[in-house]
Amino acid sequence: MLEESSTTMTRTESPMLASQGNGSTAANPYLNGVSSAANRIAGVPNPGSLADLWDDIVVCRLCPRLVEWRERTAREKRASFANWEYWGRPVPGFGDPQARILIVGLAPAAHGGNRTGRIFTGDRSGDFLFDVVHKCGLSNQATSVSADDGLELNDLYVAAVNRCCPPGNRPTPEERDNCLPYLAREIDLLDRLKVLVPLGSFAWDGALRAIALLGRSIPRPKPRFRHGGEARVGPYTLIGSFHPSQQNTFTGKLTPSMLEGVLRRAVELAG
Ligand code: SF4
Repeated sequence: MLEESSTTMTRTESPMLASQGNGSTAANPYLNGVSSAANRIAGVPNPGSLADLWDDIVVCRLCPRLVEWRERTAREKRASFANWEYWGRPVPGFGDPQARILIVGLAPAAHGGNRTGRIFTGDRSGDFLFDVVHKCGLSNQATSVSADDGLELNDLYVAAVNRCCPPGNRPTPEERDNCLPYLAREIDLLDRLKVLVPLGSFAWDGALRAIALLGRSIPRPKPRFRHGGEARVGPYTLIGSFHPSQQNTFTGKLTPSMLEGVLRRAVELAG
């Protein structure tokens, strides 16, 4: 069953402008209903609400290299998207504020999330991911093509370690650390969160670091990433999956049934 519907937005309405227009959280198209109550955090300043967090993320310019890259990519565009007005800003997480499951990616794709303004939206990785998400009953549709496509997540939130697309999909450690407080705040603000599904080793490591920022102790030795591997960290269970990058899905390293197995296990763990 789906939670409250998200506010719809046409492609010509920038999510950024929707947020800035009157400061109203109700205009935020990324949340299936906005929680403004959750307000506790340890070790990370300015917890706010998910809507506050959204506002903070979309104006961030902390990493000069990534700011330059995201904006240049948005200006130069890919020929097939020449008619698009690229988002070209940091990409917040989105989904159900009551989610018990959080999928954590690496970063937005240059011509996917950086174009559409929504993570895993408008690229092949998103096509692969959301088809499986839908099969597992965690969304109302199997596609994710634009921020106004009607996609609603059920018991699921989707975010990433880095919110700006990095050259070569490789953020530096400093860029990762700059961005981690956003993920930590998201984890903390999702009051019902039980299970994190990091996609790939970078996201696995980032999720552990974000949880550590919240004052939780990380088991020693540190749990290592493997597809289907699980780790209990504080109140959360992590279950890893290979990232649905084309490199992995085209080679069969990650198949739809493999990802489905992980997500069905996440649903089971969320219980
Ligand atoms: S990657 Fe994160 S910290 Fe760096 S500029 Fe983007 S939003 Fe800010």
